[in-house]
Order: sequence, then C-alpha cells, then structure tokens
Amino acid sequence: MDMIFTHFGISGPAVLRCSQFVVKELKKGRTVVPMIIDVLPHESEQIIVDRILRNVEMNPKKSFKNILKGIAPERFILYLLTKHQIKEDQRAGSLSKQIIRQLIHDLKQFTFTVHGSLPLDKAFVTGGGVSIKEIVPNTMQSKIMERLYFCGEILDIHGYTGGYNITSALVTGRLAGLNAAIESGHVGS
Ligand SMILES: Cc1cc2nc3c(=O)[nH]c(=O)nc-3n(C[C@H](O)[C@H](O)[C@H](O)COP(=O)(O)OP(=O)(O)OC[C@H]3O[C@@H](n4cnc5c(N)ncnc54)[C@H](O)[C@@H]3O)c2cc1C
Repeated sequence: MDMIFTHFGISGPAVLRCSQFVVKELKKGRTVVPMIIDVLPHESEQIIVDRILRNVEMNPKKSFKNILKGIAPERFILYLLTKHQIKEDQRAGSLSKQIIRQLIHDLKQFTFTVHGSLPLDKAFVTGGGVSIKEIVPNTMQSKIMERLYFCGEILDIHGYTGGYNITSALVTGRLAGLNAAIESGHVGS
C-alpha cells in the first residue's frame, strides 16, 4: 500500500486506511498520535544492518548513498542522510557503525506524530452513522423503528479501502429496497 508525503502532511491509500484509527485516538483526547513506518517489513533490522555493514566493508570507497540505492525511495534516503548529517557523496568507509545502525533503525522504525486530520469537507474517509447493532442484517430494517430501512454510507461500516464501500452500498441497498417493497405490499415475498 502506497503512502505519500505531501505539503499538508501524509496521504495515500495506506494513510486513508489508518486515518479512522488516528481520528478515534484524537477524539479520545490525545493531542498527538505517533506513527511508525517500517520501510522494509519483510526483513529484520539485524539482517539489514549485517548486509549493509558487509557491503560497506567490501566497498569502503563507494558513497554511502549508493550503498543504500534501491533499498527505499530515493527521496526518503536523501532525507535520512540529511537527518543523520551524512553528505550525499560521503564514502561509506568513513562512517561509524553506530551511525549506520541508527540510519537503518530509521528505515525500520521511522517515527513521526500526527496532530490532526483534514476537515470533513476534504474527507475521503468518514466514520460514524447508524450502528449496525440497530439493524436487522437480513432485511436492513431498523430494530428501533418499524418500516424504516437503512443502507449504504449512512451505516457505521468501515469498508476496506479499495472497492468494498460501493459493494457494501449496492448489497445493502438491494436488501433494504427489496424488503421495504415487500413490507409495503408492493412485491410478493
Ligand atoms: C472521494 C471518494 C472516493 C471514493 N472511492 C471509493 C472507491 O474507490 N471504492 C469504494 O468502494 N468506495 C469509494 N468511496 C465510497 C463510496 O462512494 C460510497 O461508500 C458509496 O457511494 C455510498 O453510496 P450511497 O448510495 O450510500 O451514498 P451516496 O453515493 O453518497 O449517495 C447519496 C445520494 O443522496 C443524495 N442526497 C443527499 N441528501 C439528499 C436529500 N436530502 N434529498 C435527496 N437526495 C439527497 C446525494 O446527493 C447522493 O446522490 C469513495 C468516496 C469518496 C467520497
């Protein structure tokens, strides 16, 4: 899942997926929510450190930037180099093991804090709505008020980003419409 660093903050599918959890935490009263990115989730930090240190040992004259090439998006690597005060053309052999370990740690656990979300009029993901506990699932009728049916976006359902909200709206819409028509006597059951 992609993530984008923008001028207003973070965005992209992975961020939309996280946003509902972040907003819930903020609503509980937290002022900041920490986010941790693991750019290389399939390998342990130790394995990456060992590999990079071996590479550095074999190529001490190569720039450290080139040793890291391809391991993560280039602009992210450039940012981490700046953060750790490593020059773009700095030779790998001139760096201490400790600084290399710290930079790899950032690749595995890059941490920053979220202070808020965009306002509702800019929202892609919105939570809340009629609780599905208040709905009869096979007819979509309200348990609280007879002859009232709900479907789609008005329900408190968090569909997985990527097509499931429309599927859910179509399925619950068909169920609700059909059952409302049956109840009103317009369609035979
Ligand atoms: C930017 C964006 C991107 C999305 N991308 C995806 C995606 O890729 N995949 C996915 O599955 N879902 C996606 N969704 C979610 C998906 O569009 C919704 O879950 C789905 O459209 C909900 O259908 P619905 O019929 O319940 O509501 P809506 O599609 O919102 O329909 C409600 C309709 O009611 C009308 N209406 C409102 N008030 C009144 C009124 N008082 N009188 C008469 N009419 C009224 C509105 O004008 C609207 O036409 C996205 C949503 C947004 C905002």
